Amino acid sequence: MQLLEERIRRDGVIKPGNVLKVDGFLNHQMDVELFNEMGKELKRLFPSEKINKILTIEASGIGIACIAAQYFQVPVVFAKKSQSINLDGEQYVTRIQSFTHRRIYDVIVSKKYLGKNDHVLIIDDFLANGCAVAGLIELVRSAGAQIEGVGIAIEKGFQEGGRLLRGKGLRVESLAIVESMNDETGEIVFRH
Ligand code: 5GP
Repeated sequence: MQLLEERIRRDGVIKPGNVLKVDGFLNHQMDVELFNEMGKELKRLFPSEKINKILTIEASGIGIACIAAQYFQVPVVFAKKSQSINLDGEQYVTRIQSFTHRRIYDVIVSKKYLGKNDHVLIIDDFLANGCAVAGLIELVRSAGAQIEGVGIAIEKGFQEGGRLLRGKGLRVESLAIVESMNDETGEIVFRH
């Protein structure tokens, strides 16, 4: 998506350790008009009428998922990162290794909001090693729900997440795929 690529080039900051900071429009301050275009594009990429729920993870996926949901006209459920799980059987639980914070989170979704009749589109801000999406997939599978696809704002194509997920036969669509980025020169190459 050209608009997103241009914005990444203009306002993205490449940090050592393969981290792309996009705090100015996506991860801290949010450009809602841009999100709106992203939501429209995600609906174009996933036209299936079967999708009846969007699943994301707090915090950065929520804004994108909510704006996109207006095009899908479905509810958004966000998986909660939890320190202390109340193991009362009312929640699906999984563990996710965080790429940016280098720690492991327990992540939960209430059984009330995900079930076997759901056809789920997973949305997140970044795809790097694929741990966050893999965790969300596990929650969907625990619920006996169907995964209709995975929509990502920015995929870092030089990390393995995209390959792993597509290798499992999942439909993964990323609005921008960074093929390479250089924290010394600031150069970013996108995959098309
Ligand atoms: P993964 O689980 O695929 O390794 O990483 C995805 C998660 O880590 C996303 O939910 C995102 O919040 C965070 N993340 C991964 N790489 C980056 C990055 O380069 N920049 C930012 N801002 N977040 C990232």
